Amino acid sequence: MGYPGHLLKLIQSLKKLPGVGHKSAERFAFHLLTWRPSQLEEFAEIIKETPFKLIPCCVCGCLLDHDYCPYCDTNRRSVDLLCILAHPKDVFAIEETREYRGLYHVLGGLLSPIEKKGPEHLNLPKLKERVARLEIKEIVIALDSTLEGDATALYLKHELKLFPLKISRLAFGIPMGSSLDYVDGGTLARAFTARSQY
Ligand SMILES: [Zn+2]
Repeated sequence: MGYPGHLLKLIQSLKKLPGVGHKSAERFAFHLLTWRPSQLEEFAEIIKETPFKLIPCCVCGCLLDHDYCPYCDTNRRSVDLLCILAHPKDVFAIEETREYRGLYHVLGGLLSPIEKKGPEHLNLPKLKERVARLEIKEIVIALDSTLEGDATALYLKHELKLFPLKISRLAFGIPMGSSLDYVDGGTLARAFTARSQY
């Protein structure tokens, strides 16, 4: 006898989360069955509401839940330094290292010929506009150390070559083929201080 249909549906839903295999999904599902209805309702509400409560900053692309963007605050951040990232979540990983106080620019993805994601899918026009408008002196490319990350970094280097910039890329300490997601804070901090000219 297999699981009742509703339980199976819950397990299948949980398996859609990254890093959750069948065994973990089963464990989570059975754990949820022990929660009080009020706890389940609160949990469901948070899941349902969160994506609609967050808005990307229209300048840098960082995720916010209010109008003020602390990452674009030129009184608090170094305006001559711009860090380019693929996803909003990468900003939080870098902020945690406390190594970086410059501005951010979120591309919204990486170039991927396999997934047919070309430059038109990335937030590039605003990047060039910001580099031209702000007094950026150095660009830090903080992209995954993967084929897509490398291709995107090369493309950025080419696109920005007309600007008088020092371009560096996070390299040291990040294992090949790994995503920033899986790198611990210490490794990321070291990668920042040892970033190489790109
Ligand atoms: Zn911003």
